[in-house]
Amino acid sequence: MVATVIHTRCYSDTGHFKVSPCAIPSQLTDPLIRFIVPQMTGEKPGIVIIGGGIGGLTLALALRARGLSCRVFEAAPEFRPLGVGINMLPHAIRELTALGLEPELKAHGVEAREFAYFNRHGQAIFAEPCGRFAGYKHPHFSIHRADLHKVLFDAARDRLGPDAVRLDHRCAGIEQDAAGVTVRFDNGATATGSVAIAADGFHSAVRRQFHPSEGAPQFGGINMWRGVTRRKPFLTGASVTRIGTVARGKMVIYPIRQFDDGTQLINWNTEQPRDDHKLNNWATPGRIEDFIEPFADWRFDWLDIPRLIAGAEFILEYPMVDRDPIDRWTFDRVTLMGDAAHPMYPRGGNGGAQAILDAEALARRLDQCDDPMAALLAYEDERRDVTSEIVLTNRDQPPDYIIETVDALTGGERFKTIEDVIDPAELAAISDRYKNIARYSLDMVGR
Ligand SMILES: Cc1cc2nc3c(=O)[nH]c(=O)nc-3n(C[C@H](O)[C@H](O)[C@H](O)COP(=O)(O)OP(=O)(O)OC[C@H]3O[C@@H](n4cnc5c(N)ncnc54)[C@H](O)[C@@H]3O)c2cc1C
Repeated sequence: MVATVIHTRCYSDTGHFKVSPCAIPSQLTDPLIRFIVPQMTGEKPGIVIIGGGIGGLTLALALRARGLSCRVFEAAPEFRPLGVGINMLPHAIRELTALGLEPELKAHGVEAREFAYFNRHGQAIFAEPCGRFAGYKHPHFSIHRADLHKVLFDAARDRLGPDAVRLDHRCAGIEQDAAGVTVRFDNGATATGSVAIAADGFHSAVRRQFHPSEGAPQFGGINMWRGVTRRKPFLTGASVTRIGTVARGKMVIYPIRQFDDGTQLINWNTEQPRDDHKLNNWATPGRIEDFIEPFADWRFDWLDIPRLIAGAEFILEYPMVDRDPIDRWTFDRVTLMGDAAHPMYPRGGNGGAQAILDAEALARRLDQCDDPMAALLAYEDERRDVTSEIVLTNRDQPPDYIIETVDALTGGERFKTIEDVIDPAELAAISDRYKNIARYSLDMVGR
């Protein structure tokens, strides 16, 4: 029989990766090879991913792209479109483009053109182009989180097979020894592998197992109400706008879906100071009367805010919570990623993006390293300090700090021209500082 020698990934007795030459009959077609090679080589499903959200599914796709086998276990019993808008900046899109997903994202989202900052009177403070319009090699997409999730979910099922993403599997605990990990689920099932990656989000059960004395999330004294409203485009039709300050009422508004009739789905988010908060859950419904007061007269010549809010399809409430950075993510064959590793305030478009960057780093390290435990440590070394700095910066100096700075100088009052208040170069410097910390400056991402 004519045979071709290919290199495939197998595991040694200790569960470590090794690359082995393997003879494949040349007449076997590609899809058959995918199924037969593991049986010929004794390959076993190697990597257990806990959580099928943005980070877990991106990781599955990135591992698959490198020929590494994995399975995803997701707690939700069914795939449901949840959440509201999310910004995917060029650093995240670079990784999703490498996975071949850019056309799908473009079809569902809106390619953002600019960041625009306003005071509570609707006066323009600062604007700068973003994504390709700022010279980046990659676009910036504003997209419904449910659309992003569905693109990842469909791609994972297509490329890894329908069984690779198992729903209704809530992780209840992990055991490990020299041979590998065993993940237990609350439905009684177990999964074994060489390593387990916890992508189980903000309320991570795995993080709780390995950091049992960590307390409740840190509440920043701010509550958010978010919603989506269908209407005609405003400003450029692709502007990511930030308006006002937390103390006097703050909003972030941007389009996330384009419809054939010319209308758009506009995502909006408000922030206001509050003394207490409900448990953070992305599905908690909100009520207009709880937050509308500071925005009641925000009728700008470029957007009527009370009308925007009144037209909402639904409103969700979510507190500004995160957790202090921790000094360890990796415990031998287990590591944390995404919100499980570095839950942060949803500001600056980085909650989802940093989970995607974690996924790329993890897949690369697992691909490059023969020893998967060493790979997990190398991943943590690469990512922990970077993301800790973003967690802390998102508390005090996210990009919105531009508006806080002007508000402090004007006492929240109108100004004649912004140059009377501050040199715009100082505002650009605030934006550039955040880009450097979050790793999405032009030089870091590529032109
Ligand atoms: C329902 C939902 C809606 C969201 N909506 C928005 C939004 O509108 N805007 C925004 O900016 N961010 C939103 N986020 C947060 C955002 O998706 C994350 O901050 C970011 O994508 C980080 O990705 P992640 O993979 O770490 O976490 P997530 O994307 O949150 O994914 C975590 C996944 O783990 C699953 N999970 C949890 N516990 C277990 C367990 N024990 N075992 C197995 N699986 C488990 C969850 O069901 C979830 O699918 C939302 C998150 C969720 C879960």
